[in-house]
Parts: sequence; C-alpha cells; structure tokens
Amino acid sequence: MCFRPPSAGKPKKCPDCGALNPSVVKNCVKCKADLSAVKTEEKAEDSSQ
Ligand SMILES: [Zn+2]
Repeated sequence: MCFRPPSAGKPKKCPDCGALNPSVVKNCVKCKADLSAVKTEEKAEDSSQ
C-alpha cells in the first residue's frame, strides 16, 4: 500500500546527511541541519513508462 495523506506534503532531503524529513520539520531529524532553505524532494513516481 502506498497511501499518503495529502496534507503531509513531500519530504525534504537533508543536504547534510541525506535523511528524508517530513515537510513540516524545520530541522533535520537526524543531524538537526537547517532545512528551511531545502526544496522538497521532487520525484516523478507516477511513471507509467
Ligand atoms: Zn540531516
């Protein structure tokens, strides 16, 4: 199952450690790096190819 709440948004990838953080967090959950300037991960996972 790939259910994803629409309000969750896209995860942010930490530029420091590469961890995926919820779009709502301001700092990386792993290394506490500032994620305010990080763009959300944009992946086209809807590829039918
Ligand atoms: Zn991090």
